[in-house]
Amino acid sequence: MALLQITEPGQTAAPHQRKLAVGIDLGTTNSLVASVRSGVAETLSDQDGNYMLPSVVRYLENEIEVGESAMLAAPGDPMNTIVSVKRLMGRGLEDIRKKEFGAYDFMQSDSVVPRINTRGGNVSAVEVSAEILKTLRDRAEKTLGDVLTGAVITVPAYFDDAQRQATKDAAKLAGIHVFRLLNEPTAAAVAYGLDKKSEGIVAIYDLGGGTFDVSILRLNRGVFEVLATAGDSALGGDDMDAVIAQWIMQQAGIDDDADHAQIRRLMYEGRRIKEALTETEQTSVEIERNDGSVWKGSLDRETMNSLIDKLISKTVSPCRRAIRDAGLSVDDIEEVVMVGGSTRVPLVREKIETFFKRPPLVDIDPDKVVAVGAAIQADVLAGNKPDDEMLLLDVIPLSLGLETMGGLVEKLINRNTTIPVARAQEFTTYKDGQTAMSLHVLQGEREMVTDCRSLARFSLRDIPPMVAGAARIKVTFQVDADGLLSVSAEEQTSGVQSSIEVKPSYGLEDSEIEQMLRDSMEHAKDDMESRALREQQVEADRVIEALDAAIQTDGELYLDEQERKDIDEALVALKIINQTDDAQAIKQAVKQLEKACAGYVERRMNSSIRDAMSGHSVNEFES
Ligand code: ADP
Ligand code: MG
Repeated sequence: MALLQITEPGQTAAPHQRKLAVGIDLGTTNSLVASVRSGVAETLSDQDGNYMLPSVVRYLENEIEVGESAMLAAPGDPMNTIVSVKRLMGRGLEDIRKKEFGAYDFMQSDSVVPRINTRGGNVSAVEVSAEILKTLRDRAEKTLGDVLTGAVITVPAYFDDAQRQATKDAAKLAGIHVFRLLNEPTAAAVAYGLDKKSEGIVAIYDLGGGTFDVSILRLNRGVFEVLATAGDSALGGDDMDAVIAQWIMQQAGIDDDADHAQIRRLMYEGRRIKEALTETEQTSVEIERNDGSVWKGSLDRETMNSLIDKLISKTVSPCRRAIRDAGLSVDDIEEVVMVGGSTRVPLVREKIETFFKRPPLVDIDPDKVVAVGAAIQADVLAGNKPDDEMLLLDVIPLSLGLETMGGLVEKLINRNTTIPVARAQEFTTYKDGQTAMSLHVLQGEREMVTDCRSLARFSLRDIPPMVAGAARIKVTFQVDADGLLSVSAEEQTSGVQSSIEVKPSYGLEDSEIEQMLRDSMEHAKDDMESRALREQQVEADRVIEALDAAIQTDGELYLDEQERKDIDEALVALKIINQTDDAQAIKQAVKQLEKACAGYVERRMNSSIRDAMSGHSVNEFES
């Protein structure tokens, strides 16, 4: 007789049956990998015990170095050593021209994706990131002794779709199945178990080596919604190192024209001192001048604080802005989570506590907190946890909208919105007496219906006949936690309604999503122009139609012969010009027509006010 294996309900069986899933924090300065082992999420270290992998990749003739050794070699081999590749992810050649992206030798080509020439051939940001991810994957598989089933990779909350897609592509290239991309601030909140609360507002303060981000999240039934983000992409611990380095230069009498090697030594010493003063009140300083002589001194925490005070204060206004953008006040923030190595600096903690009027959460190592949260989420998504612990964190990959007049798309839900979500908007009828309205649901980033993907069509009937613009049709888009979209339309005054369900992601491959996004980027300008033209044409049609109808009802009454002639002329001119592609000319012609019928419009208006007032005493209208 076989023994039955008994497990507690809801608990998984033997440890070896667990699916190996990891969380990866793919950082600008450092990257980490973490996994849930025996119920505890922990970061995984390399053979030397380092859990942080510097996000640096060096290309040699026939070899690729990743991490510490590449970082150490970077100063001597800058053209072949790629640092801070995250800043390049999802960026086009245009973006790169605009910004400072190091001294790399960007390849001259007309491809959308920038490539960097290195000793080992030309590489894209996606390929460089893939090397970092591969190193972390290897580390995980070696440490845990199994093949990875999948990973949750974190990205900044402000990453756009191209940047997210690039991150996914890098993972694919590294042979990693991505369960989900997770926003870094959300991961940090998950690490602290804040998702276990039913609702609340949390602020995530992330001060790294070279960047500062603050995010305001709202938790609602296990879902974190990013309400606002703000930050400074050029502010971080490196700046503190620099002001300390300057202080040393002054003290040691080193000139401003110190060479590269000297500056690097100074920065390195600045960083060492800063990190030491997190633990102690005072530390010794030692720097070698270029002539070989050595300067020795010491720095205490208080003096350092006076040096870095301004930098830290600079993080406060983005916090204030994010709270304001979220429509909240400081008192609404229930928890503050500290992320990033630089939040170890005691003065940072003090200032943040003062600003938010509460002590920030610091129990989890601020370097590890994002990776830990990602690991917890990965463990759930791999199926190692009972379903009821499933977190519902997902975003819509492409915008959802409705067709409006002129073949244009009005977006109701923008891409990257966290699901579940519901958004409503009011539309109105275009013609007098219109009793039915057909609704066309579309997906995509482009402006014109023909460039987006059609998801469904349905119609709303039995709208009571009203004058154009009087009906109030509320259309609601609702996407549930599984990505299922339902659209409903309701005429507000009569209560007539209609609805439909669609599955937007069905049949759309990742590559198609990518293509659609690329198209929308490439055509953004064209799109805007054709949108402007169509809007102008629709406006002209509306004016023509309204005027025709008005003249038919009361033209005889309010128009003299000359006026009638002028209006007819302007009307004909507009009808002809409206067939052309010249938005400017159409606008002009509309103006001409409006001028021609100004008197007529005024007389009609006066008479309709008289109509409305007849039967009422004048006193009723006085207040
Ligand atoms: P990123 O998010 O940009 O990858 P990290 O979150 O890893 O960066 O933060 C790196 C920064 O944290 C560096 O400026 C480093 O000097 C700083 N840092 C690390 N440890 C400490 C410490 N003990 N005290 C002060 N600063 C620290
Ligand atoms: Mg970071």
